Amino acid sequence: MPVEKDQFRAAMARLGAAVSIITSNGPAGRHGMTVSAVCSVTDQPATLLACINRSSRGYQTLKTNGVVCVNVLAARHESLCRLFATPGSPAAERFANELEWDTLQTGAPVLRDAAVALDCTVDAINDVGTHGVLFARVQAIRINDRADGLIYFDRAFHCVRQSVASGADTTD
Ligand SMILES: Cc1cc2nc3c(=O)[nH]c(=O)nc-3n(C[C@H](O)[C@H](O)[C@H](O)COP(=O)(O)OP(=O)(O)OC[C@H]3O[C@@H](n4cnc5c(N)ncnc54)[C@H](O)[C@@H]3O)c2cc1C
Repeated sequence: MPVEKDQFRAAMARLGAAVSIITSNGPAGRHGMTVSAVCSVTDQPATLLACINRSSRGYQTLKTNGVVCVNVLAARHESLCRLFATPGSPAAERFANELEWDTLQTGAPVLRDAAVALDCTVDAINDVGTHGVLFARVQAIRINDRADGLIYFDRAFHCVRQSVASGADTTD
């Protein structure tokens, strides 16, 4: 007997996850949306996946443009994260601060101070239920190794601070 949708959602709320803004640009225009369903698939070739609701504008845009950038958010980006998750908010409003954005290789918008930006081409999209599972091949990476992390857990945002010992050589 399959579990109820609400029970599954409550279970997934306990699965803490990094939060990203996935962006795209191309023939279907510029767009971006907040996502937490992102994970690594393989490092050879460097590939990640993202699960995108097919009723969102983002889904159609990413699919048509064939390029995405996964901008993993830093602790300071909570309000930006909320803006890119507001249903129906115009792309122009989401990208209102042009200075926050540049590009790497594919032309998808890259958040300048993201914790890490993974610029990708879309390899495949498999539809499962309400969502499309997007497989993205990483073409370029930019890492900000001084950023604190932003995690969504129990339907709330949490800051993950860098360890004081971060970067220290622990070998004798
Ligand atoms: C922490 C967090 C994690 C998230 N993770 C994911 C994820 O992994 N994958 C994912 O697909 N989404 C995720 N979302 C949700 C996503 O960010 C939002 O749905 C966002 O609005 C999508 O933007 P869009 O412009 O692509 O689609 P939108 O056009 O904003 O549409 C999104 C949904 O809202 C409906 N909608 C559109 N306009 C309105 C309106 N005026 N009033 C009410 N409803 C409206 C649409 O029909 C659609 O179902 C997450 C949100 C948060 C806060």
